Amino acid sequence: MSGKLDIDGIGMTSQRARNRLADRLAKEGIHHAGVLDALRTTPRHIFIDEALAHRAYDDTPLPIGHGQTISQPYIVATMTQALVAEGKPRRVLEVGTGSGYQTAVLAALVEQVYSVERIAALQKRARERLRALRLRNVRFRHADGGFGWPEQSPYDAILVTAAPRFVPDELKKQLAPGGRMVLPVGGEGVQELVIVERGDADEFSQRTLEFVRFVPLVSGTARE
Ligand code: SAH
Repeated sequence: MSGKLDIDGIGMTSQRARNRLADRLAKEGIHHAGVLDALRTTPRHIFIDEALAHRAYDDTPLPIGHGQTISQPYIVATMTQALVAEGKPRRVLEVGTGSGYQTAVLAALVEQVYSVERIAALQKRARERLRALRLRNVRFRHADGGFGWPEQSPYDAILVTAAPRFVPDELKKQLAPGGRMVLPVGGEGVQELVIVERGDADEFSQRTLEFVRFVPLVSGTARE
């Protein structure tokens, strides 16, 4: 990444632009005050290429290179709200760090985030951005997140930002009793955004929140 990050922003990337985005999402059904605050304080423009920074606070996904995209703010807000709505999880696993934007929003809300990314180059940049924002409660791992991060499990919540065909059993296993997982399911194209809840024993329940479009969860790791 070149030079210093302009965290505060100006004009199209200013605090006013962030406030406007949060107001718009509030009208679209995001009601959790903590989530709206996190969207107001997280500078999305530093998570994308400078050439696209003027679109950072449009409610739209944008390319981040390597065939990947930074998620749409509405989707980030919806998934985050689903995770924290019924009590704040303490330890959260994120699969698919990407730009690190969703990671930063989570880090503003929960105690500890563990984030796994399969593309090393994306992970490196995300790490730099979170360091610039002084978010110190995030640990990163370069690995195939389809297998989670078993050494740090169990998690109170798991958030997956790439779509597997089915809910991965490995991830279900790493969920603490009473924990919840939010993920797109269905592979390529349109997927269901699903919330999986683990009861106090070994039973799981599942319901669909809405329909979404994510990049597929890919196995293995890559440099770039
Ligand atoms: N939340 C991110 C979304 C990035 S797109 C953001 O807003 O920027 C999804 C990300 O998941 C991509 O970076 C992709 O490389 C990653 N990914 C896909 N399959 C993966 C896997 N098996 N393990 C870890 N990361 C994976």
